[in-house]
Amino acid sequence: MPLLFRKIKELRNHLNTLRCERNFSLGFVPTMGYLHEGHKALIKRSRLQNEVTVVSVYVNPTQFGEGEDYERYPRDLDRDMAVCEELGVDVVLAPTDEEIYPQGSKTEVYVRELSEVLEGKFRPGHFKGVATVVTKLLNAVQPDRAYFGEKDYQQLKIIQRLVRDLLIPVEIVPVETVREPDGLAYSSRNVYLSPEERESALSIYRSFLLAQEMINQGESNSAIIKEEMERFILSHPHVKKIDYIEITDPELNPKESVERGDRILVALWVGSTRLIDNWKVG
Ligand code: AMP
Repeated sequence: MPLLFRKIKELRNHLNTLRCERNFSLGFVPTMGYLHEGHKALIKRSRLQNEVTVVSVYVNPTQFGEGEDYERYPRDLDRDMAVCEELGVDVVLAPTDEEIYPQGSKTEVYVRELSEVLEGKFRPGHFKGVATVVTKLLNAVQPDRAYFGEKDYQQLKIIQRLVRDLLIPVEIVPVETVREPDGLAYSSRNVYLSPEERESALSIYRSFLLAQEMINQGESNSAIIKEEMERFILSHPHVKKIDYIEITDPELNPKESVERGDRILVALWVGSTRLIDNWKVG
């Protein structure tokens, strides 16, 4: 089993002891737990590139808005520990809220502009919570490399920006989105979906294939592509609402004309579950 720490001080003591014994590179995979194949890809990459890997499991309350799914977010630390063991993870950090937000915490991290578009419009405060907790976790672990999924593409861009702006000495390693065989991106929130809802959720991936096919056929007008995607997605019975379909350059600037390497980003509601996904135009 990996070593499990609840306290940052204990984690630091352990890592310091290891560092006295030998030199090693440290990889870090921050998660909210309920580990799936997407998380596993991040962990495997870290294991390949580093001698020691730390995984954190922490459902961060400050990145959930009022009325969101903080309380019902799936949690199973025993299962997560077993997954980490299977993958050869050295250390799991599962801190308490008090460890991350000591009494009277007043400091927050906010990445302007990038936090205000796309997800930021629909989940105000979300990226402030993310940026704050990731900064704290990076300070707690002090890894050489930290691994983030492209599944949460805007989050990845915000983290890259914050480590640059705050001079945090860590290499951010992006990892491609892992999908189920039928194309649905792995997400801890997929457990909320009924079989019928899951079928409707597949429309996201299929709309990316549709868009890619249009682009392959020579269509480059974003508005036309987005319209087709919307029409297709809304033809699925359990899709309640599309929050956005956006086409941007890799830095999240909206594009009117699509090129290879651009991103198509979607957020929508299937039943009472909100899902996000994105696609790199090939
Ligand atoms: P979460 O536990 O949902 O906060 O995710 C923890 C990390 O895993 C984040 O960097 C996510 O982007 C990444 N991740 C989540 N789902 C996937 C996926 N399907 N493929 C790749 N990375 C993922």
